[in-house]
Amino acid sequence: MSEFRKISAFDTVNRLFDKAADLLELSAEKRVELTTPYRELMVRLPLLTEDGEVKVYRGYRVQHDNSRGPMKGGIRFHPDADLDEVRALASLMTWKTAVVNLPYGGAKGGIQCNPRELSELDLERLTRRFAQRMEGFIGPREDIPGPDMGTNARVMAWMMDEYSKFHGYSPGVVTGKPLEVGGSEGRLSATGRGLFFAVEQSARAMDLPLEGARVAVQGFGNVGYWAARFLADAGCKIVAVSDVEGTLVCPGGLDIDKLHCIADETGTVMNYEGEDCQRLHRDELFGCDCDILVPAALGGAIHAGNAGDIKARLIAEGANHPTTPEADEILAEKGVTVLPDIYANAGGVTVSYFEWVQNLQQMRWDAERVDKELRQVMEAAFEAIKKASEEFDTDLRTAAFVVAIRRVAEAARLRGLH
Ligand code: NAD
Repeated sequence: MSEFRKISAFDTVNRLFDKAADLLELSAEKRVELTTPYRELMVRLPLLTEDGEVKVYRGYRVQHDNSRGPMKGGIRFHPDADLDEVRALASLMTWKTAVVNLPYGGAKGGIQCNPRELSELDLERLTRRFAQRMEGFIGPREDIPGPDMGTNARVMAWMMDEYSKFHGYSPGVVTGKPLEVGGSEGRLSATGRGLFFAVEQSARAMDLPLEGARVAVQGFGNVGYWAARFLADAGCKIVAVSDVEGTLVCPGGLDIDKLHCIADETGTVMNYEGEDCQRLHRDELFGCDCDILVPAALGGAIHAGNAGDIKARLIAEGANHPTTPEADEILAEKGVTVLPDIYANAGGVTVSYFEWVQNLQQMRWDAERVDKELRQVMEAAFEAIKKASEEFDTDLRTAAFVVAIRRVAEAARLRGLH
């Protein structure tokens, strides 16, 4: 599974880049320049555990491109984190930050470890050792990590603290921190809220009223829950939700607050009770009757084997690369509109950018300001993607890459050879 995901991620990014680069008639030299990472770091991290054992972990940071500003991207703690995967995700961050026009380049990092098998103290020691190895290469004007799979606000606070020992108090070195040490209002819900703004734009352009629109959501974690919550608040009916345990289908609509409490208390959405609810296998979500589908769990979830079953008119990609290129073709033939991940889930990195701005200015924004600025970013990006899609008569994913590649290529050209 991890092998499939790894190849799929790297392969997908390159295939998508090339499709847009063909439309832009980019030269072979330019393609090499834009896809080659700026710097790749691999470090060894010896850890003396609480149990008295010495273990050596591998840590990575790939800095892909800095033409448009300091590089930005998450740090994941995961057994499958390796250089190939991190490299693919770093390049995806370059295109994601460019499509929403943040003054950033792209990066990604990770430690190959299972954080659930580490004690709190071992996790802190490992994080600090990683920050020690990285401190000369990251920084508020160089590369700004954030949380990703297996890391959280606590880990970011340790990263910030360790970096600050070398460079003085530097909250702007990482984002996704707790509010008490320079985090931003609205960061937790940002990806779901950004996805909601993207759906709003697209639904308007498609003449799909949100009031009463039926929505299915794969995954009820951070992205899935907040996306469902904002869509429900706007009048949508959440008719199906899945998690790792199964799919819950309730054609009359789910009460999202109640579902959230139950999932929180029992660990799964499957314990929700409702009159018209039916329980299915987790993979059966994609065949559900709905108007809008939000994949918010895994990469490669929508593939050639299930894309034909999808009944939604609009898909908003909360997860990273949830749709395989083969599925994309099937969906295009069916006339389904797909809001691509590099746009639809960019709300998280956008509010991370707001956090960094607040840290640099030593100011605090309230939640209202964060939401207002996020809406502006998502609306402007949608307009740019729509325009490119009309200009090249192409789908929104390719159009998003066109917008991103143009911005990065132009910044690189204006700055000259590095
Ligand atoms: P999470 O761990 O909070 O939630 C993941 C959810 O998916 C859980 O409910 C889990 O049970 C469910 N799930 C796992 N395997 C499943 C399967 N086979 N079928 C159905 N459900 C399954 O993760 P998250 O932070 O919500 O992230 C979800 C996706 O969004 C990931 O691909 C992540 O890379 C991407 N993403 C997250 C953010 C963010 O800010 N959290 C930003 C951009 C992209």
